Formats: sequence, C-alpha cells, structure tokens
Amino acid sequence: MDFDAIVVGSGITGGWAAKELTEAGLKVLMIERGREIRHQQDYTTEMKMPWDMPFRGHGDSDLFDRDYAVQRLNRHFTEFTQPHFVNDAQNPYQTGPDTRFTWFRSYQLGGRSLTWGRQTYRWSDYDFAANARDGQGTDWPIRYADIAPWYDKVESFIGVSGAKEGLKQLPDGQFQPPMALNVVETHVRAEIAKRWPERCLTVGRTANMTEGKPEEGRAPCQNRSICARGCSYGAYFSTQSSTLPAAMKTGNLTVITDAVVEALDYDPATRRVTGVRYIDTKTRTRKTARARMVFLNAGSFNSVHILLNSAPGGLANSSGVLGTHIMDHATTLSAAALMPGFEHHTTFGNRPTGIVIPRYCNMDQMDGIGHARGFSFQGGALQSTWTQGNRMAGIGAEYKEKLRHPGPWRMVLVGFSDCVPRATNRLTLDPVKTDAHGLPQLRVDFAFGKEEHAALAQAKAEAAEMLIAAGGKVLMGFDQPGPAGTAIHEMGGARMGHDPKTSVLNKWSQSHDIANLFVTDGAQMSSSACQNPSLTYMALTARAAHAAVGMLREGRI
Ligand SMILES: Cc1cc2nc3c(=O)[nH]c(=O)nc-3n(C[C@H](O)[C@H](O)[C@H](O)COP(=O)(O)OP(=O)(O)OC[C@H]3O[C@@H](n4cnc5c(N)ncnc54)[C@H](O)[C@@H]3O)c2cc1C
Ligand code: SF4
Repeated sequence: MDFDAIVVGSGITGGWAAKELTEAGLKVLMIERGREIRHQQDYTTEMKMPWDMPFRGHGDSDLFDRDYAVQRLNRHFTEFTQPHFVNDAQNPYQTGPDTRFTWFRSYQLGGRSLTWGRQTYRWSDYDFAANARDGQGTDWPIRYADIAPWYDKVESFIGVSGAKEGLKQLPDGQFQPPMALNVVETHVRAEIAKRWPERCLTVGRTANMTEGKPEEGRAPCQNRSICARGCSYGAYFSTQSSTLPAAMKTGNLTVITDAVVEALDYDPATRRVTGVRYIDTKTRTRKTARARMVFLNAGSFNSVHILLNSAPGGLANSSGVLGTHIMDHATTLSAAALMPGFEHHTTFGNRPTGIVIPRYCNMDQMDGIGHARGFSFQGGALQSTWTQGNRMAGIGAEYKEKLRHPGPWRMVLVGFSDCVPRATNRLTLDPVKTDAHGLPQLRVDFAFGKEEHAALAQAKAEAAEMLIAAGGKVLMGFDQPGPAGTAIHEMGGARMGHDPKTSVLNKWSQSHDIANLFVTDGAQMSSSACQNPSLTYMALTARAAHAAVGMLREGRI
C-alpha cells in the first residue's frame, strides 16, 4: 500500500481527519481538488482597503453574473473574498424542476474553513434524540454523552470564544473568554429574560480566539471581521491556521492539490476499498492512489457524489438510502427593528460574531406551533458606519461629515429552523450532463415542508414580540425561507443509523458495507438540529479517526 489512509478533501473535516490520523502515526495522503493556498502568503486581499480594489470591494458585476451566479448570492461573497469561492460556470450542478438550491462552495486547500462564519455550537440530546422522538428520519446511533469528550477536544484545539450559560439545549464547552455584547444587545438580553426566563440571548460562540495560542503561532483576534479573506494572525480556526500545521509537524502527511477524486476503487473479493481514482487537473491525467483505508471529507454533497460515481447504484449503498434525506436549515430574516434610545452610545472595532438566542421550544414540553422541532435566532445590534457611503450619493465636506457619525441602532434576528430529514430530498447523478472532467453532474431535489414553514412563522411572530418588548420599532420580518442552501449547512446523504438496511454508516461514521471506508463530513448527519453543524462534524471526525486507528491496529480493517 502507498499509504495507511487517504483523506479526500482538506476543509474543516479533512483537516481534522489528517491531524488525528497522522498524530496517531499513520502515513496519510490528503487529496484536494482545488489549488494550494499557503497560510500567511496567499491571502491576497487580506490587508486591502476598498480603494485598493479595482471595483472598490463590490466586484465586477458582469463577471459575477457570468461566473459566480450562485456564489454572488452569499452575503460573504465580495470582490475581497471572491478568490475563496468556487467559479459556478466551471463547476455546474443541476436542480430538479421544483428545486431552488444555492450550493455555496470553496474548492481550494482549506475548503470552506477559510470562508466559514465560525459560529460554533454543541448539539444536545434534544437534537440527537429528535428523530426517535417524532419518528421522522432514522434514530441516531449516538447520544450527547458519546460525543461530549470529542467536543472538548475540538474546542480546546481550534479555540472558541463564548459565554457559559448552563443551557441544556446548548451545552457549554471549553471556551476562551467571550466577546462582549454591545449596549443594545445587553439591554435586549435583560428585557427578554424578564419576560421569558427560558429564552437566553448570548454572544455568538465563535472560533475566533480572544486569547490566542502563541505556542501554535496563533494570535488573538484583532476585531476586523473580514475573516473570509484569510487571516495571517491565525486568529480564527481554519485548516491552514490550525489542523494542517499540526498534521505537517508529524512528518506523516502528504498533500496533493489540483486533484479531483472521481471514484473509490473497490475490491469485491475482500469487500474493501483499495484507494481512490483522481484526475490531476494540471496535467489532465487520470491517476490512482492506494491506501489501507479511506476517509471521505469532500463536503457532504461531494462525498455523496464520489460514492454515487464509484459503482452503478452507488458504492456502500446496500441500504438504498445513499443520497437521500439531505437537509439544510430553513432560514430567514425574522425581524429587523430600530432600537431608539441608545444614540449616545457607540462601539469601536468590528466584532466578528453576533448574538444567538438558542432554541427554547419543543424541549420538555411540545409547544411548537405546527412543528415538533426547534428554531433559534442569530443576529445582533449594529449601527451603520462610514461604509454606508457605499450606498449614499454625495460629495465634498458635507458628505464626509455625514459619514463621520454612526447611524441609528438597528437589531436583526435571523431565524434558523431544524430541517426534517425526508427521503424525497435527495442527490442523484444527472444521467446526461457532465462537468469539465467528464464526470456526471450532481442533481439536487429539495423542498422544505410544512414543519419548516410553521417554525419560521412562529419565529417571525416571536422575534417581533421580543424586540418590541425591548423597546424596538419593527421595520420588517419574514416567515418564508430563503432558497434551500442559504444557510450553507447542507448535510445528510449518507446517514448514520443502527440498521444497515436503512442507513449508510454505523456509529463510528464507518460504512456498514465496507469496513475500511469512513465518511466523516456532513453527509453522515441523520438530523439537522437548528445549530450550525461544523463543530459536530469535527467532533465526529476526531471520534471516527480514533476508532479507525484502533480497528486498524487490531487488524479489523
Ligand atoms: C460563508 C459561509 C459561512 C458559514 N458559516 C458557518 C458557521 O458559522 N458555522 C458552521 O458551523 N458552518 C458554517 N458554514 C458551513 C461550513 O463551512 C461547512 O459546514 C464546513 O466547511 C464543512 O466542512 P467539510 O470539511 O465537510 O467541507 P469543506 O470545508 O467544504 O471542504 C471540502 C473540501 O473537499 C474538497 N473536495 C470536494 N470534492 C472533492 C473531490 N471530488 N476530490 C478532492 N477534493 C474534493 C473541496 O475542494 C474542499 O476543499 C459556512 C459556510 C460558508 C461558505
Ligand atoms: S477579525 Fe480576527 S479572525 Fe477575523 S481576520 Fe481579523 S484578526 Fe483574523
């Protein structure tokens, strides 16, 4: 064998798989389809100001329309961050006739660890027991106690700032000191607590460090909130700042970039995968790499694509559920309000996180209106700053003077609803259309159901109620979700479960069918919760890597 393990993908989960496996002494090959991006050398727009950019940070709208038609819908996509998002024209996918799915992607070393919003939340037993409780989807084969030590490990290593609140629906973790709530958020938190003691507004738990990790060359956050350009301070968690240096330090990691894995090689005689087939995109040649086991970390949909493309009907698919039960949170702006009375206060710096109001319904009592799961809010209070000049006509001294004064305080609450896993929401390979490498394009069929609509209707009403109770004047609010994919939490497609007949993976993120195959990105998720999922993906990856090393040593795989 060439390697002990192959890790496909170098994003949030691939970095963790590589770190854990190499630190356990395994020789690992990481294969990444995108280009190399070196920490502190290749963040090309990191220190640029709007006036340094050809389009002042807004970008070339003709280019964006032509090549970034999906990515440009993401609010993090700008002229500064465009090098970290995928070119849609070169990486097409298909959607079913009734589907609008915006698939936000980053194909590069580090994947979306460079572009993510860094919101980092534990799931609780309300989430791991959700499917068992209401009978939708398949039961998770794990509970909170199985993953809690791995959450500890991941949080301590990546660096998460946050406040401990003692909530059972959002367990506390290993936090660096929290970032501060601003004056309006502090006021709203207190007003909500007076009237609804079960609702807690707290500062967003974020993988931006307040203390740094000097021993790892990582500095505390400078509060600029331009993280998706890359961060040479290493102040937020990315593959480049954190897991990749750790894996490289072992001397056990080989990284190949510009290499698209098209399929896994499978030996029916041993019922094992023997390696991967990939396309070297620089030379346009097809190659093979061999290893004793494979970790798929290409991002939920791409890992499923690789499995579907590896055998007729899909590899590791004796259950027939590969590609099904995909999810993404339903999300919308539930309420935006003016918050009068704080005009004499302002803040300095740009805090790179917002606030969160964790789930508070359908916990010990089923009090959801027309739905059985949870929703939560993220958002924050802010004033407009000099950058409002981007959208304001004017010139000269009077105009500049206007921009010196921050505008009125506003507060927004964005609802995120749990997404029910449904067999009809699924990924397939398009029978006709192929991409530039000749691989079948992925096709997404997806629709939210009545549960998500009901949850967002309740979220809209209650968001307005909370802001009004805090003295706000509500300007707008919505109850219809944005297009699926908007939350950028796409997951499922190779779900975990007890039963090989109804699930793809067992409780170790290991294929029921193929013992040396692990899928440890979001594809493994059996339910969605309403929290951001990446921390859970990382913890499950570390847990699976530990289990896989044990099985390898015992000769079981
Ligand atoms: C703007 C934005 C904000 C977000 N905010 C948050 C947040 O606040 N909190 C949160 O929890 N999550 C957030 N997410 C989601 C988060 O980024 C993903 O959940 C996470 O990155 C998934 O990790 P991953 O390793 O599975 O995939 P990725 O990080 O996407 O990495 C997958 C890697 O695999 C590579 N790859 C794909 N296909 C192949 C192939 N065939 N061969 C070889 N390589 C391949 C890709 O190029 C990529 O580098 C956000 C995402 C975006 C874009
Ligand atoms: S806000 Fe913090 S993490 Fe983000 S780019 Fe600036 S220093 Fe880095």
